Formats: sequence, structure tokens, C-alpha cells
Amino acid sequence: MVNAQINDQMVNDMIDTHIHLDEEAYAPDREEMILRQRESGVEAMLIPGVNASSVGPILDLSAAFTGLCYPALGFHPQEVKEGWKAQWTLIEAAIREHRDKLVAIGEIGLDYYWDTTFKAEQQELLRLQLALAQELNLPVMIHNREATEDTLRILREAQMTHGTSPNGKLTGVIHCFNGSRETAQQILDMGFYLGIGGVITFKNCKLADTLAGDERFAPIPLERLLLETDGPYLAPTPFRGQRNESRLMSYVVERLAQVYNSSPEAIIEATTANAKALFRLK
Ligand SMILES: [Zn+2]
Repeated sequence: MVNAQINDQMVNDMIDTHIHLDEEAYAPDREEMILRQRESGVEAMLIPGVNASSVGPILDLSAAFTGLCYPALGFHPQEVKEGWKAQWTLIEAAIREHRDKLVAIGEIGLDYYWDTTFKAEQQELLRLQLALAQELNLPVMIHNREATEDTLRILREAQMTHGTSPNGKLTGVIHCFNGSRETAQQILDMGFYLGIGGVITFKNCKLADTLAGDERFAPIPLERLLLETDGPYLAPTPFRGQRNESRLMSYVVERLAQVYNSSPEAIIEATTANAKALFRLK
């Protein structure tokens, strides 16, 4: 017991800033799986909401695992279809009601990969959610797939619109970042963080080079990176295709330690401090 306490004080553990713990893939062993993470070097897991039906399960899980699981609520762009406004009314009410428990509004953003039928509606919804985040003084978790230009433009517009609000500048994370160095620079200039997950361990993935920098660009500062899984998806190599769990972020940490010519401990210390600062975790 004494040893455990000393360890808790001296060793920083990883924070998974994006894991869908409410998903069906975790149903068979959800509770044991969550507790197993704590024993495997994971300090906290942030659960993003995607639609109205994810609100209840996410709040329940966070209440059952206080201090380990933290809720975010939001309306995912892929969930936008006919009748989305009625669903948004429900989600907005839940966000307002539970504001004090929430670490962020998310997962929100734009996704043009699967379907662009509701492109305009996705943009409208993103603007509504950014305005609410600014009003309630919460950071945002941003999903962007094949929509970088529109996503960054809308974020920038929101920052300008709300720039003089008493809550200051809108901030957050671009989750599962895998873009170019130019895109990364725009995100850094906006004051946002980059969420790094299993993708960085994939063969042929350029993300490690992007982070490391080159003759033209300095490395992306470690002070702006967060760890994440996007579990149950995107398990790192050598577990690719299997169910992802937060403890597997150690493979992401290893890769980042190579990229930054640093130790895994230093990577964990930096990313955990970043997560605590952005999401105001105690
Ligand atoms: Zn996600």
C-alpha cells in the first residue's frame, strides 16, 4: 500500500483523451476492462458523446468510475441526418444540465468521407456547438475527416466571433490528427492541441515525420500533444484490427519517444500535463 502511494506520487500515468467506452465492443467485460486500465498505467479516460442515446451511458459510466472516467457530450457529424435538430435540442439540454461534470463538448466536427448529403447541416451544427462551448467555457474535441479546410475555417470564425467573450478564446483538440505539417501549424497557431493515437505506429504512416519536422519546419512541440486511442478503433501495431484499450497507448508513447529522442516517462509526463491543463482535470 505504501509502495503504491509512493508510486502514485512519483510516476505519471497516461491519460486517454478519447475513448468510446460506451460502445458495444466493450459490452462483454466493460467494468473489468476499465479497472484493468488503471492497473496498467492509465490515469484517466475521457469519453466523448456522439448522439442523444450516448448521453445516459456516458454519464452513468463516469459516475460509476469517478476520478477515472470523465464525460464529454456532443453531436458527431456522422450522426447528422433528417430530423437532426430535434436530437440537437436533447443533446444541448443535457450539456447545459450536466455542464459541471463535463470536461469538454465533443465529439463534434465535420466528416465528408462517408457522406456529404448533410454538409451544410454539419457545418450549422458545428457552429452551434462551438458557440455553446464558448458560452459554457468548455474546450472542444474536434473530429475532422476529409474536411480540413472547412473545419479550420469554422473554428477560426468561432474564435473571432467570440474573441471578446469573458471566457476568452475557444480551445480544444483536433482528435486523431494525421494531417500535414502545414495543417498542424494552423492548428497550433489557433492554440489547439493535436490528439495522437495508434495511427502513428502504422506502417507507411507519415505522422511521425510530420511531428519530427524537417529543414523547413521545427518539430511540433510536445507541449501541444495529447494521447488518445479512439477506442475501440485504431489499435496500434501489433494489435491493429483488434479492440483498442487505453493501456495500448504505451505503443504510441514508445513511438513518440523515438520521434522526440526522449524517454517514455518524459512523453507521458508531458502529455498528461497537457491533458490536465486543457480539460482542467484535478
Ligand atoms: Zn471518436
